[in-house]
Amino acid sequence: MIVVLKPNVGQEKKDRLIEWLKGMGLGVHISEGEYQTVLGLIGDTAKVDMELIDSLDIVDSVKRVSETFKCCNRKFHPDDTVVNIGDVKVGGGNFVLIAGPCSVENEDQIVSVAKDVKAAGANLLRGGAFKPRTSPYDFQGLKGEGIELLKIARKETGLPIVTEIMSIDDLPLFEDIDVLQVGARNMQNFDLLKELGQTGKPILLKRGLANTLKELLMSAEYIMASGNENINLCERGIRTYSDYLRNTLDLAAVPMLHELSHLPVIVDPSHATGIARMVPPMAMAATAAGADGLIIEVHNDPPHALCDGAQSLRPEEYAELVKKIKAVREVL
Ligand code: PEP
Ligand code: MN
Repeated sequence: MIVVLKPNVGQEKKDRLIEWLKGMGLGVHISEGEYQTVLGLIGDTAKVDMELIDSLDIVDSVKRVSETFKCCNRKFHPDDTVVNIGDVKVGGGNFVLIAGPCSVENEDQIVSVAKDVKAAGANLLRGGAFKPRTSPYDFQGLKGEGIELLKIARKETGLPIVTEIMSIDDLPLFEDIDVLQVGARNMQNFDLLKELGQTGKPILLKRGLANTLKELLMSAEYIMASGNENINLCERGIRTYSDYLRNTLDLAAVPMLHELSHLPVIVDPSHATGIARMVPPMAMAATAAGADGLIIEVHNDPPHALCDGAQSLRPEEYAELVKKIKAVREVL
């Protein structure tokens, strides 16, 4: 249920209403907009007397929210959420460029790619230290050592770092990481989501290979219900009948997620297509569709990459692409 307050309601009256609602055993999510405050009520609202609340002089309107996702629902929070990652802002008109190799391989590699993507205009460095691979015989990532190398690359460039967490047990290693990525394969690892809710850290939540938008939003809800609102949703392609492409990039997910939720939406054209030459057109299309950012794989030597070389851009290709993305943004 949402309770929209009239404009310019005094703080004392607002607090009294919130306390009264909490006294009924409800969670109250407060969204302070530019003109109005919206209270999102969570819990058993069946017994709440809507007419009574509606009749209060400080209340503008009361509505039931039928969707099962509440905290991430646009109705609970009409303004776009802006996620802050150091000095970098995502959402609400702030566009973010995230780039780097699929896997951190060694210090020279990650530092050189970090410098190159920074020079091209990237705001955040991505690199996998823990890699969820389909085959147990494939490179599994440098794990803790990879995290340390990412920190070196951050020190060299000043770029905040994004890296994937696969297990709650690894959380202590991620204390100093700027953005924790939840990979497609872990989108419904609910124990992990709940634990990430406790961290308060910015999260990049990727859509599962075969998950609906509602399921993605319910996963965001797990993190938010546990107390963390700093979530970036990520469309990274889904399994369809696609034969020549790794996945199908669901671009309509971008405006639909914006309609349903206030969270920023980032697009990953690398995993969505699996082919480096498909990345630029899809990156531009995603930008035109209103994405709040792009996460793109960039490698200094794609043919010899330990993971996802076929979809990785070379630094100079990435630099060219960034110019085009900026041109698309200007048109918008
Ligand atoms: C990745 O970002 O390298 C990755 C494994 O992505 P996804 O979880 O989307 O497959
Ligand atoms: Mn990858």
